[in-house]
Amino acid sequence: MFRQSKKRAAQRRSDFATADQSTTYIQAGISFNDEQERYELLYPTKLSFYHLPPIGEITLDQFETWAIDRLKVLLELESLAQRNKNIKEMEQVIKPILASCIPLSESLESRKKDYYSHFILRLCFCRSKDLREKFLHAETILFKLRFQMLTQADQTKFVQSLNLPLLQFISDEEKQEIATELYETVSPQLQFQLNLSEEQQRRQFFNHERFIKLPFEAVIDLLGTRQVFLKQGWAYLPQFQQLNHIANEYASRLSDDLLKTYQHIPKLNEDDRLLPILTHLSTGYVVTEHHYSFSDSSLHPSSETTADTITAASLHNPEVRSAFPLCAKNLMDGLSKNNHLKFNGRQQLSFFLKGLGMSVDEALKFWTDAFTRSTSMSLEKFNKEYRYNFRHNYGLEGNRINYRPWDCRTVLSKPRPARGEYHGCPYRDWNPEKLSATLAAMNLTQSQVSSILDSAKRNEFTLACTKAYEFSALSEAPGTANPSEPLITDQTHITHPNLYFDRARRRRT
Ligand code: SF4
Repeated sequence: MFRQSKKRAAQRRSDFATADQSTTYIQAGISFNDEQERYELLYPTKLSFYHLPPIGEITLDQFETWAIDRLKVLLELESLAQRNKNIKEMEQVIKPILASCIPLSESLESRKKDYYSHFILRLCFCRSKDLREKFLHAETILFKLRFQMLTQADQTKFVQSLNLPLLQFISDEEKQEIATELYETVSPQLQFQLNLSEEQQRRQFFNHERFIKLPFEAVIDLLGTRQVFLKQGWAYLPQFQQLNHIANEYASRLSDDLLKTYQHIPKLNEDDRLLPILTHLSTGYVVTEHHYSFSDSSLHPSSETTADTITAASLHNPEVRSAFPLCAKNLMDGLSKNNHLKFNGRQQLSFFLKGLGMSVDEALKFWTDAFTRSTSMSLEKFNKEYRYNFRHNYGLEGNRINYRPWDCRTVLSKPRPARGEYHGCPYRDWNPEKLSATLAAMNLTQSQVSSILDSAKRNEFTLACTKAYEFSALSEAPGTANPSEPLITDQTHITHPNLYFDRARRRRT
């Protein structure tokens, strides 16, 4: 198999070598300077329309990690859009994620990563209409956000580099000729969209603003609201309004390209190295990683406990319990009801408690108490049949692996709970009636409950959970003019039960 792969790789190399040498593709084996020059063509500023496919060489490791990094950004954007965040809120959340996953600087390395990761994800998400639409939507938002992060000079440079027939700047002379009518049309938008309340400010902005002209059919949506000046079939658009049109152009090209990519996919089906990676990327993924609060110190009893330390006793505190995500609440309820949990439930809850920073001694105290509360389980039986299991989860028995708490993806990868089991994710496993009644009991409104149920129905379980978290945060501040401001400072997608807990606890302290 390895030899076959090598053969195919050699074949691909020779195919590239015989390709038209005059193309401006990124070629393998070119010098650093040549490569740098080529990326400069593709990136006139920090943005690109990705109009040429890269055909250089990267390692399999880069192939996978670069794609995963971009995927994290796109999934976060998708989640923000689904939660109706406006572009400003999105920018606030996504900036640090962008900076760590696909930072765009002038360096060759960051441009390469951005370029390749875009094309790798095209391969993953071209396979069905649904996937194409999702990718297109998230990439277009990413494009808009990045465009807005550019300086005005860079925006102009980028637009000029596109050389789009529809997006040509008018000359200063042409602007002068129609200045009066143009200002009258644009002035209300300057006031309401850019908050320029003073006439003098608006005049000043207008004098420096550049305009593009395009056939009026291209801006039909703006005509009804009289947001553009029309003359002889041309619409005149200020630069600050051009983003939507460039983004539409970007989306329409990307949509065509995705279809073309889809037509070429069968050729890839022979590649036994890339295919598993692509399948993995388009089916299962983690949005963001949660950094756990547990450490080696959770293995040993500590004399230093703070108000935040989670102990066996504090788990009965309603305030602590109210910060649990639905999956953990369900496990705790199942445990109280039966004085027992079956294997998957024990594992899920045990790792969740470990993720809260609970020490192994406190964990054993908690489980012993919970299991031996009924007369059917003696302490001796508990020690004989269960103690080992909980110590094992802390890496104190068997192969001594210090296991990590389960993220939502791991929870969702386990078999669904059967009758009498409590593990899993309620957003996936509960019927709509039970879920809706539980959410309503959390003081959520009917429309909030419906929105969560919609996401759950579309199999977007972590999104449903994120919405539940945010809505319950809002319901804790009734009457506040804009309650989301002080309460929800971190709006990233929830992908880990411990992340849910940490965030809910922070909010209340
Ligand atoms: S989405 Fe994750 S945190 Fe939320 S209930 Fe499901 S498993 Fe728990």
